[in-house]
Amino acid sequence: MKRAKTQQGEKIPVGISQCLLGDKVRYNGEHKRSNFCTEVLSQYFDFESYCPEVAIGMGIPRKPIRLVQTAVSDDHPIEALGVDDPSLNPSSALRDYAHKTTKALDHLRGYILMQKSPSCGMERVTVYHPNGNPLHHKGVGLYAEVLQNECPLLPIEEAGRLNDPGLRENFIARVYAYDRWKNLEDSLTPKALLDFYSDYKYLIMAHDSQAYHSIGNLLSNMKARPLNDIAHDFIHLLMDTLKKPATRKTNTNVLMHIQGYFKKSLNSDEKQELSQVIDQYRVGSIPLIAPVILLQHLLRKHPNDYLERQAFLRPYPEALGLRNAV
Ligand code: SF4
Repeated sequence: MKRAKTQQGEKIPVGISQCLLGDKVRYNGEHKRSNFCTEVLSQYFDFESYCPEVAIGMGIPRKPIRLVQTAVSDDHPIEALGVDDPSLNPSSALRDYAHKTTKALDHLRGYILMQKSPSCGMERVTVYHPNGNPLHHKGVGLYAEVLQNECPLLPIEEAGRLNDPGLRENFIARVYAYDRWKNLEDSLTPKALLDFYSDYKYLIMAHDSQAYHSIGNLLSNMKARPLNDIAHDFIHLLMDTLKKPATRKTNTNVLMHIQGYFKKSLNSDEKQELSQVIDQYRVGSIPLIAPVILLQHLLRKHPNDYLERQAFLRPYPEALGLRNAV
């Protein structure tokens, strides 16, 4: 599929709940525009919008639905029923649409869902007792549930959670990592897989040092198993690892590894400045972008191929400015 180009490069195809783009598709004829999606991310992502409730013909406006614990079947104890008219039950239609749609989403590199929706909510959707009382808040929208099950590698996040700087940074880093992987997948060779891993080593370490070792072990004997099997395990491990939040502590650990890797090239002033900046980041006085910029500056003065290619230093376009807030 041909990609749209912008000043920022090629746009990455990402799915989104249609109401988040400002389209008036909600049950009440309104929208839930996300300014971050429409004004910032739209410069980098080519959004493909989906509204499951409209797609199955519920119309605009329409009767609102909610999740109800009906226990009508062991397979689907939760159904989406009409709020005012419980005989309205579009659950099968929503699930069928989700199964059909998710089969054709292989080109997407991420998906942003509308929170709290009985169709699109990724988690913490309110589930009601048939008598109308709230039962718990652990529900998942019927479309979102199928999407998450059928596309386990796809980075998926809710628009509401993107207001959190850490979650926002994490999601976008995952989208860019997944995009890079998908672009490589069809022409994968053992060397290309090892190169990809090399580029992501420090980013993996920042998210989970145990996984860093597991992935290293997985790739340590490329002749042990067919390449496709190793690649399958690798990308599942990688995407699961990147979901885990990096912390100030784990990022500091990575910064110190990088510092150690090229300390022989630095003079004493540079070493001291780098140590100070890493320490200021460690104690929370400055954001992650500060030591990263200093490292990039030092790498320009003291080139090092292995470090320059690290996704940890540039996981997504810098203009997004996401590391100013973490
Ligand atoms: S939350 Fe999902 S189903 Fe509801 S209006 Fe938005 S896109 Fe449509």
